[in-house]
Amino acid sequence: MDITTVSSFRSARTRADLALAPGEVVMAGGTWLMSEPQPTTTGFVDLTTLAWPDVEITDTGLRIGATCTIARLLAWVETEAPAEWTSLALARPSADALLASFKIWNTATVGGNVCQAFAAGAMIAMLSTLDATALIWTRDGGERVIAVADLVIDNQATSLAPGEVVRALDVPAHALRARVGLQKIALAELGRSGAVVTARVDPDGSAVFVVTAAVRRPRVLRFARVPGAGELRDAVASATDFYTDPLGSADWRRGVSVVLAERLRAGFARDRAEGTA
Ligand SMILES: Cc1cc2nc3c(=O)[nH]c(=O)nc-3n(C[C@H](O)[C@H](O)[C@H](O)COP(=O)(O)OP(=O)(O)OC[C@H]3O[C@@H](n4cnc5c(N)ncnc54)[C@H](O)[C@@H]3O)c2cc1C
Repeated sequence: MDITTVSSFRSARTRADLALAPGEVVMAGGTWLMSEPQPTTTGFVDLTTLAWPDVEITDTGLRIGATCTIARLLAWVETEAPAEWTSLALARPSADALLASFKIWNTATVGGNVCQAFAAGAMIAMLSTLDATALIWTRDGGERVIAVADLVIDNQATSLAPGEVVRALDVPAHALRARVGLQKIALAELGRSGAVVTARVDPDGSAVFVVTAAVRRPRVLRFARVPGAGELRDAVASATDFYTDPLGSADWRRGVSVVLAERLRAGFARDRAEGTA
């Protein structure tokens, strides 16, 4: 894709370099920014030169640098992550849920996927399910923290103010030792997801189910225990922002989200009955 409006490119080395001139936008992997015309953009500011660590184990859990690529995160999860962080099993199926998966993984960043804020944002599904928060650098030199599920406010829209940059995604320790699952469906076998349901059951029995791709922004449903089938069906179906596009109708998305959630619920219930959970 020729990006004909862009005439400048800067590599950010310090936070001060993130002060954007009119027409500049920050670039992470560039997979989206380079994939279609950017008529209002005249300059790119590269975030990857800030040398943020990809992953850090902190006192409170796991910190994923916003510029960590999806491929690097997967490699870390599958070779280096603490074995007791069972919830990270969600990383592989989440990455697989991306259309064009491995081609995009190697360059696309976790932060870029969140900030692009597609309804089908696979890292958004994973991070919302793990109660992750985004650490945001504000324009005035300060910071703010917001749940990833709340940062995304619509399909392709976030609550980031102009000039704000996501520095990191933090997954709290309490969400890292859970049982997790992901179910998805697409109208075309290799097409973009029409509905994704992810879920987490903590050691104390509490459960979180998250619907993405089928609704315009993550729908996070929390339960004190794994819910019964009817309770879960009603909670999933009651979302008001199931939407219609070429990848599926709103009614279809509602229907399949209910089915996918029930598959996860039944799996958790079966594990408990069999004593494997
Ligand atoms: C062929 C193809 C298939 C795709 N399929 C899917 C799919 O199935 N599901 C899906 O969710 N996505 C899909 N995408 C989109 C993909 O998710 C994005 O291209 C990718 O996640 C963006 O990551 P990036 O690091 O390349 O971001 P960039 O392209 O660099 O940036 C994306 C946006 O985020 C902003 N941004 C990036 N990092 C930050 C930050 N740290 N702070 C503030 N703003 C930031 C940029 O300014 C830009 O607006 C697809 C893309 C392509 C090209």
